[in-house]
Amino acid sequence: MEVIKAVKEMQRWSEAARLRGERIAFVPTMGYLHEGHLSLMREGRRRADRLVVSIFVNPTQFGPREDFNTYPRDFERDCVLMERVPVDVVFAPEPAEMYPQGFQTWVETTELTRGLCGAFRPGHFRGVTTVVAKLFNIVKPHLAFFGEKDYQQLRTVERMVSDLNFDVEIVAMPTVREPDGLAMSSRNAYLSSAERQAALALSRALNAAQRRFREGSFLAEELLAEARQVLAQEPTVRVEYLEVADARTLEPISKLDRPAVIAIAAWVGRTRLIDNVVLADVGAQ
Ligand code: AMP
Repeated sequence: MEVIKAVKEMQRWSEAARLRGERIAFVPTMGYLHEGHLSLMREGRRRADRLVVSIFVNPTQFGPREDFNTYPRDFERDCVLMERVPVDVVFAPEPAEMYPQGFQTWVETTELTRGLCGAFRPGHFRGVTTVVAKLFNIVKPHLAFFGEKDYQQLRTVERMVSDLNFDVEIVAMPTVREPDGLAMSSRNAYLSSAERQAALALSRALNAAQRRFREGSFLAEELLAEARQVLAQEPTVRVEYLEVADARTLEPISKLDRPAVIAIAAWVGRTRLIDNVVLADVGAQ
């Protein structure tokens, strides 16, 4: 496994692979890898000749009062996990390599980033789309893998690729969960054992709403009421948003007459967690 830190070197590697006719799969991450990240990498390995993973805690997607400095990092452990996949190249630039003095060009997807996390994390998605656009120009992948866990990010990246004609196929991968249902996240490392227990309320609430949907309820308000009831049993969990949205446009909907997503963001102590489930069967018209 090769570790590359320089943009130019990464571009040269990818260009050479492309000239040999090899297909490149790419998994962008912020590191502190878990089974969710690894599931994306294994699928990338399966679907292409070469697998590149980036490890970059992207400063431009963190707000001034967010956790950029404390975000968990363990590059050596990440490398052990990536060797086992196996990954061909780890692209791990320093922030100054990605954002040199004078940097001033941004990529922004407008409508899709207004609601949900976008409403509470101003500038977050601008940072995401900008770094993903840069990474695509550096790694030059044929395929790039993103988790449904970050549902708004997935939809936003798909939109950016389509709007800006990036020649990259975006592959969406299902959310990997702990055995008790908690969605895997690098930020779970922040949780104390009591908080870890309380955090289960998120997936339980989404499950309750999904159950209600499968039982034939197609009113968003009914599903949300079901979810809120579960969340109310865990008063230490502070909900930031809980919404039923159109799975494609992410606009809030009141009737599940088209594919929908029920998405939540909540604070457990000082840790912000997100989760979602897609309610794909078309319900009442
Ligand atoms: P991150 O390192 O958190 O930026 O995540 C890197 C990629 O892994 C993103 O595409 C995430 O959506 C994806 N990812 C994170 N957690 C999970 C999970 N539990 N299941 C599947 N994919 C995930």
